[in-house]
Amino acid sequence: MERRNNMRLSCPHCGEFARIRKSQQLTPVYREATVECQNPDCGWRGKMALEMTQTLTFSQQPNPEIRLPMSPRLRDSIREQLTQ
Ligand SMILES: [Zn+2]
Repeated sequence: MERRNNMRLSCPHCGEFARIRKSQQLTPVYREATVECQNPDCGWRGKMALEMTQTLTFSQQPNPEIRLPMSPRLRDSIREQLTQ
C-alpha cells in the first residue's frame, strides 16, 4: 500500500495541528497559504509560503520560462558527463 505523503503542519506557537484554509498560486513556483491553528485555546492564524527551489531531475516537457537552480548533485552528474 502506498502511503500518502501529506504535509502535516503544526502551529509554531502551541505545536497543535494547523490547517491550510486557502492558498493562492502567485507564480508557477510560488504559492502562499493562510494557515489556521486548530487548537481553540491558541487561535493563531498566519501565512506560509511554498516554493519550488531546485531541480532534482529535468522535466521532459520543460517550460522555458522556469529557471530553477539545479541541485548540487544534478550539477555534479552533468559535470561528470561533460568531462568524460
Ligand atoms: Zn496554536
